[in-house]
Amino acid sequence: MSAHQQYVGRLAPSPTGLLHVGHAATFWTAYQRAQERHGILLLRDEDLDPQRSKQEFVDAMLEDLAWLGIEWTAPMIVQSKRLILYREAFLRLLAEGLAYPCSCSRRELARMVAAPHEDTDDEPVYSGRCRPTTTAARTFSEGVNYRFRVPEGETVSFTDVNMGAQNYTAGADFGDFLVWRKDGLPSYQLACVVDDAAMGITEVVRGADLLKSTARQILLQRALSLGAVDYFHTRLVRDADGVRLAKRHDALAIRKLRERGLRCEDVRAMFAR
Ligand code: GLU
Repeated sequence: MSAHQQYVGRLAPSPTGLLHVGHAATFWTAYQRAQERHGILLLRDEDLDPQRSKQEFVDAMLEDLAWLGIEWTAPMIVQSKRLILYREAFLRLLAEGLAYPCSCSRRELARMVAAPHEDTDDEPVYSGRCRPTTTAARTFSEGVNYRFRVPEGETVSFTDVNMGAQNYTAGADFGDFLVWRKDGLPSYQLACVVDDAAMGITEVVRGADLLKSTARQILLQRALSLGAVDYFHTRLVRDADGVRLAKRHDALAIRKLRERGLRCEDVRAMFAR
């Protein structure tokens, strides 16, 4: 980001459950960074999971963010209303031979899983079973999953504002990943990159569990000729036993803490910098 550019940050919650302390810590950092830089903070509702996204969680999240004292610039951007943008980007990838259809079932994918990583929700590296040998442009069919062809062996490097130098190798740290789903929706990775560019985001603040997603998204940005963004990954909040708070949803939901009589100052003290 250049010195004269206005800082534009974003909060990008998924309305699939109640906001908990782990999320709130990241959102609080995003809010503080925008404030300190006299920037703006946009809110994006990442509601592209039709099975799990619920309006009651959107309402709860708005209430909880406001209760925590986090302010954003209205109006909220809702991903399910922007499908045309994602589809356009996906069709460009397809026309350039950078995406291909994948017919692997969930069960097949599960079988390909190597030892699960201990402390990350990241998906296993795709085996390449459906990857075509040539990069000829593919046509689009409804009802099919599509993957992005990562440049095998290429190292994606970026300097995280908080965590310093990061290097991830395509094909080793992550494999070909979904960009379009057979239910007619974009993947998180694609929607996120398209929106961060369209919203003019200058810095993405997100949890360190998404570091490899950032590497994937940098590849998508390049493939779509979108501008680069700065990244600030927050360290994951853990309890006294070292368990990630994000893993303990209910007990640490912001509204549960509030119902137990905690004040917003008490909750903020759990993650204040
Ligand atoms: N919606 C994502 C989540 O709640 C965060 C996405 C992001 O920061 O890019 O985990």
